Amino acid sequence: MSIWKRLGSIFGGGSTGGDDSALQYAVKCRRCGEVIRVRVNRRYDLDQDFGDYGDQVVGYTLHKEVLGNRCPQLINIIVHYDRSQRETERDIEGGEFVPPDQA
Ligand SMILES: [Zn+2]
Repeated sequence: MSIWKRLGSIFGGGSTGGDDSALQYAVKCRRCGEVIRVRVNRRYDLDQDFGDYGDQVVGYTLHKEVLGNRCPQLINIIVHYDRSQRETERDIEGGEFVPPDQA
């Protein structure tokens, strides 16, 4: 049985996909100042990072391109998480992070 199938059965079974699978971010466009909310689905949007031996998930990475409505500036966000999906590092190009509750 492949690791993908195993993971699928762990993460895919029975969950309603409610709010615990979502992460909220808000970014502000550097060019026009528009604040854009970004909703991230933990299950579908996070890439798994494997350790040196390739068989163990050591963390997760989010890569997302965000485009607002007001201008064509593309904002790239990269967020790193540990294996418990706690955020460890974040990086952004083309804009800045703002607290989601101010968006
Ligand atoms: Zn913009």
